[in-house]
Amino acid sequence: MNCKNCGHIVEGEYCNHCGQKSNVGRITLSSLLNELIEDIFQIDRGFFYTLFQLFTRPGKSIREYLNGKRRKHFKPIAYLITFSTIYFIMSKMVGQNTWMDDLISGFAEGGSNEEEMPEILTWFSKNYAYTTLLLIPVFSFASFISFWGAGKNYIEHLVVNSYVTGQQAIIYSIFTVLKKFIGGELFELLPVVVAVCYAILVFWQLFDNGNRMKILLRSLLTYVLYLILSLGILIVIIGISEITK
Ligand SMILES: [Zn+2]
Repeated sequence: MNCKNCGHIVEGEYCNHCGQKSNVGRITLSSLLNELIEDIFQIDRGFFYTLFQLFTRPGKSIREYLNGKRRKHFKPIAYLITFSTIYFIMSKMVGQNTWMDDLISGFAEGGSNEEEMPEILTWFSKNYAYTTLLLIPVFSFASFISFWGAGKNYIEHLVVNSYVTGQQAIIYSIFTVLKKFIGGELFELLPVVVAVCYAILVFWQLFDNGNRMKILLRSLLTYVLYLILSLGILIVIIGISEITK
């Protein structure tokens, strides 16, 4: 049998030259609908598969992803953008601030007065998903340096942290709803603690062949570096926006 798409000889279910299915017939209404359902289902499966894996065995499934087990997974940056957007919309829907709103307004209050809050900070607050996306390279630089020599390059750290940050957005979403309906001081700090613990768990599973204590210290170093770097960048940004006023 020859492939109907490219003409190569086909054995098995797919053409090994172009990847088309070997058993394509004429297009009918039912084949069109079947294809549509298959396409949607394919996306769904990848999405829920990744979601489930990242809750049950995050570091291990990310390691498998880096090692080449990719087909079943939802793409890391799409995953991050999806959940950052969901978190942002959800917090606005229940009338809560995102952690970034709180952080930025806290930072502005610490300065002179609120009216002088640089426009760029308001932009960060209002564009949560983009801001998280911009912070990933910074966080990844921190984790790349902290896990220097552990066998992952910078781009691999970007992938790891995209998944981690996507999952943290889910954690924040859950706490945003809890905070709305239960309330209390507990929900101010707890989400951040859970999110950081989640990231440490990922590193713990991802680098499971090293010294456990070292992995823990390197994870903590990641956060220290991240704080220093992002604070430094923030100060530079504010400085520039003051000069250009
Ligand atoms: Zn073919």
